[in-house]
Amino acid sequence: MMTIFSHMSALAQEHGALNLAQGFPDFPMDARLAGLVTEALQQGANQYAPMAGLPAFQEAISGKAARDYGVGIDPSREITITPGATYALYVAAQTVLRSGDTCIVLEPAYDSYVPAIEAAGAQPVFVPLLPQSFRPDFDRIEAAITPRTKAIFINTPHNPTGTVWLPEDWRMLEALVLKHGLYVISDEVYDGIVFDNRSQHSALQREGLRSRSLVCFSYGKSTHTTGWKIGSCIAPAELTLRYRTLHQYLAFSVNTPMQWALARYLSPDLYAPPATVLQPKRDLLLALLRDTPFRLLEPAAGTYFQLVDYSAVSELPEQAFAEWLTRTHGVATIPVSAFYHDGRNQHLIRLCFAKKEETLRAAADRLRF
Ligand code: PMP
Ligand code: GLN
Repeated sequence: MMTIFSHMSALAQEHGALNLAQGFPDFPMDARLAGLVTEALQQGANQYAPMAGLPAFQEAISGKAARDYGVGIDPSREITITPGATYALYVAAQTVLRSGDTCIVLEPAYDSYVPAIEAAGAQPVFVPLLPQSFRPDFDRIEAAITPRTKAIFINTPHNPTGTVWLPEDWRMLEALVLKHGLYVISDEVYDGIVFDNRSQHSALQREGLRSRSLVCFSYGKSTHTTGWKIGSCIAPAELTLRYRTLHQYLAFSVNTPMQWALARYLSPDLYAPPATVLQPKRDLLLALLRDTPFRLLEPAAGTYFQLVDYSAVSELPEQAFAEWLTRTHGVATIPVSAFYHDGRNQHLIRLCFAKKEETLRAAADRLRF
């Protein structure tokens, strides 16, 4: 079975549609980062990297965490470099979950969590985010916890809703995790993509939470290079040891030249948070959509996705509507129903705005019907 992202991208290609479906930038990456990769190749950084990652890259990640979140992370004992965040999350699930455990998943949820939970022989327990606001509902989360509950997946900034957790959400999560002895698999791939001068928080920032968390990042998101598939998992040393016993036989290590380049690029004088490039794109999409029959939900607080309600346009269920829109109006989007285990229909689609201005303008022209 194909994921919704592969399905909608294939449909977009088949119909020559603009692809606002799968989340990837259609604009070029920073040429300075490309230059660093060339330098890495020429300098001969072409053999196996150490199993846990190039030390210079681990140090750069630790330095970034210190700047962004004011935390001290031990680069060699707490950071593992992975081939992308999907892998990082999958290995995190195998590290903490065992057959018979349950793991809480907040819906709407990214599509890779449930297969990762099931691969460990554990069972997902679904808890919806609050209607409209898509904030976590800690009463319902606590009500779903049983003695079998081992872990919870969280994701902020959140795909697909674009919401960003507030400090009180993190406080509530920490209290719950410590009370019930849960592990947290924290998907923070949209690190650095928050808008309107919001501050961003991480599971790394609260001591109690950090001691129970495996925090996963994706440099494909933070450097506009989704095709590179490089990520990391930050976890306390004891969990990291367990994590690496799996990693060393799954991937063993991650491609060296990209690590070499990213190690240099993640310095304060070269790296700018991706929100710098993405904020004007979000603002443009919001402005353009005002002239269409699509109703905006809250402006995305983070990520590069915006949800819209299409009830004024069609009564079709979400996937059928997204396919129809691709075929007849030449704009591919993602049905939000794909992020729910029961495929519920709320007349919502997700638009990716990590696109060139001309792509966003052309898409909006096609949505003005
Ligand atoms: N988590 C979320 C919420 C995502 O949106 C994505 C991918 N876009 C990933 C994980 C996977 O990231 P990667 O491409 O690094 O595997
Ligand atoms: N994370 C991307 C999205 O949400 C898709 C990645 C994929 O195709 N698996 O659009």
